[in-house]
Amino acid sequence: MRKHIVAGNWKMNMTFSEADDLLNDLMEKLEKEELPRDVQVIVCPPFPYLEMASDYANDSYFAVGAQNVSDQEKGAYTGEVSAAMLESCELDYCIVGHSERRGYYHETNALVAAKVDRLLMHNIRPIVCVGEVLAERESGQQLDVVRKQVEEGLFHLTAEQMKNIIIAYEPVWAIGTGKTATTEQAQEMHAHIRSLLTAKYGKELADEISILYGGSCKPTNAKELFACPDVDGGLIGGASLKADDFMGIIKAFI
Ligand code: PEP
Repeated sequence: MRKHIVAGNWKMNMTFSEADDLLNDLMEKLEKEELPRDVQVIVCPPFPYLEMASDYANDSYFAVGAQNVSDQEKGAYTGEVSAAMLESCELDYCIVGHSERRGYYHETNALVAAKVDRLLMHNIRPIVCVGEVLAERESGQQLDVVRKQVEEGLFHLTAEQMKNIIIAYEPVWAIGTGKTATTEQAQEMHAHIRSLLTAKYGKELADEISILYGGSCKPTNAKELFACPDVDGGLIGGASLKADDFMGIIKAFI
């Protein structure tokens, strides 16, 4: 059966000492809980704190991921970080195609596909974000928009490669706005994504892929969102910056 996953995306937040405190706090809280074996917690801090996070993770119950990666293998790409570097730091996950990268840095589905390939080449599991903006939902295009993102970002993969993908549905209008998708909206989109996966790769594989919800997920709404049959956990932004809140969301699975 597919994994339940709660992943924290810290974005561009925290100083070194704040990051240290948060990781320490989180580790202490996780140690007190008996996490079910099918629940994976992932922390995605900014690049400078990945090593510190990995040190904490070694003694604890969470894995570490990056928030971005270059589509290029190596060379003269000032400021970029490669999948080979992330692999050499023993990272397991990396977020790709977050709406902030698609929006502010003009990342296309083709670039997302190239980054996914690069990560898989280096044994890092991509957490691939998809989701519609408000105008697209208001004009009823959300299913088509997400279908295109899934097809163009992922459907070049073989079934064997696809098994390593985690998908995060993040309606852009819900990110950082305090406005959460209803359980009906989330379930409808997650079932849509799974049906696309089923049509392309078959039911057995589609049933193994974790599809996370992201967008103003909090301790107060996590349980009902995660209870939807096709919602397998969350990608958490703001609420992952406080150990109590992040833990409150993880507890939806305990
Ligand atoms: C995100 O950016 O991935 C996210 C889900 O943010 P927030 O939880 O703050 O809405």
